[in-house]
Amino acid sequence: MRLCGRGRLKAALIDLKTERNRRIPNPDQVIIAGAGIAGLTLALALANRGFQVQIFEKSATLAEIGAGLQLSPNATRLLDRLGVLERLKYSSVEPQAICLQDGTSGEKLLHLPIGKAAKERWSAPYIVCHRADLQNALLTEARSRPNIAIQLQSAVTHHKADRQSVMIRVQYHDRIEEHRAALLVGADGVWSDMRTAMFDTDRARYTGTIAWRSSVAVEQLPESFKTLLPAGTNVVAWTGTNAHLIAYPIRSGQMINFVAVAPERQNGRRWDIQINPEGVSQNFIREFAGWHQGIRDVMRVGRPWTPWRLLEMKKCRFQLGDRLLLIGDAAHAMTPYAAQGAAMAIEDACALACALGTDSTTWSSALAAFSSARTQRITAVVRRGALNQLAYHAKGPLALARNILLRNRPVEKFVKGFDWLYGFDAEERKPDT
Ligand SMILES: Cc1cc2nc3c(=O)[nH]c(=O)nc-3n(C[C@H](O)[C@H](O)[C@H](O)COP(=O)(O)OP(=O)(O)OC[C@H]3O[C@@H](n4cnc5c(N)ncnc54)[C@H](O)[C@@H]3O)c2cc1C
Repeated sequence: MRLCGRGRLKAALIDLKTERNRRIPNPDQVIIAGAGIAGLTLALALANRGFQVQIFEKSATLAEIGAGLQLSPNATRLLDRLGVLERLKYSSVEPQAICLQDGTSGEKLLHLPIGKAAKERWSAPYIVCHRADLQNALLTEARSRPNIAIQLQSAVTHHKADRQSVMIRVQYHDRIEEHRAALLVGADGVWSDMRTAMFDTDRARYTGTIAWRSSVAVEQLPESFKTLLPAGTNVVAWTGTNAHLIAYPIRSGQMINFVAVAPERQNGRRWDIQINPEGVSQNFIREFAGWHQGIRDVMRVGRPWTPWRLLEMKKCRFQLGDRLLLIGDAAHAMTPYAAQGAAMAIEDACALACALGTDSTTWSSALAAFSSARTQRITAVVRRGALNQLAYHAKGPLALARNILLRNRPVEKFVKGFDWLYGFDAEERKPDT
């Protein structure tokens, strides 16, 4: 099409405006790499504070990857404020208790009330759900906000920050797009490209342990396994030498989600490799060979088992510069022994939005304060995870001592020991750990 004089002038003005926009970003413009739990939560929390948010997600669809998640009150209070908890109402389950049992004898060791007790003590519910249900709830809420744009099939491949802004390159189909923003947040998960681009040797490390994940329809549970279950709807953990098994209901209570954690040398980096019960590693079978019959039976009826290597990052990294940040697994992938990975991603997101939304401080000091407070909190949570691992996988006299302690210590003392974790409000920015 040929343009006349006025048309050419108009086109030139548009070009100039576009160029200017590319160079001088709106100070409220934030770009997020990754539409996982951390990225979507951050988008919502920022949108609530008037920011313009653009999310780039490398996957073509936000598929049903992952399995069950436990979301403790420190996470659900934040999801509630974002309008997401309401969206999870029908797919999530609110268990009545967390129960610990011996994996060999089936003996009941501890019954920790949550349900109504969690809401009374920590002012928010303890829920369990499928990761996909949480991601869908976040996504639906994000799509309802005019100031959030989500572009799929778009991998953030390169970034360069100066004092004013950050330039971001995005691979969209077969072309490279260039964008500018006031801030780039890497919420790109455990394999974070943004982290490794800056700290090549600082990748997540394999812990030598695999979480085997599966789910079984309630009506398919073997009778021998049902005899092990305490009455009611619960999160149940069975402890054993070097291994443990966790079970809880998901998908409105129609399925039971299983996570069996055991040592293993090999495996890939995907969440979606499925292995039939007969095809699981011999190591896995060996680890649970001496366990209670009910547990061995349920492991055979499971739908395909998905192996997931447990990774952790030795160093927690939030701030990469004044214009670059990491949150969620990209900042601090942790083992699941405290069941806090997604909860920490949610806390990071809300705390960051809070820091950026504060008028009284400068951007740079707000980010430094955010980074320091979150590092303190994550360190405490990682420490709790290590303690849980020790307790779950204890053997010999240590296992004996653990069982005596769990049986005899007043439940109130265990409950009190969770106050710092579940009672925490990330938006108040008080790391009382
Ligand atoms: C066995 C197991 C059990 C667990 N159980 C629990 C539990 O009970 N409770 C709990 O709270 N947590 C649990 N977790 C942890 C939890 O699943 C994670 O911590 C959480 O999903 C992290 O969220 P995230 O947003 O940081 O990363 P993710 O949810 O992994 O999202 C990262 C996103 O970034 C995208 N991406 C990657 N690279 C790019 C790029 N270059 N450009 C654009 N997009 C990109 C990815 O496609 C992905 O969508 C468990 C983990 C495991 C392994």
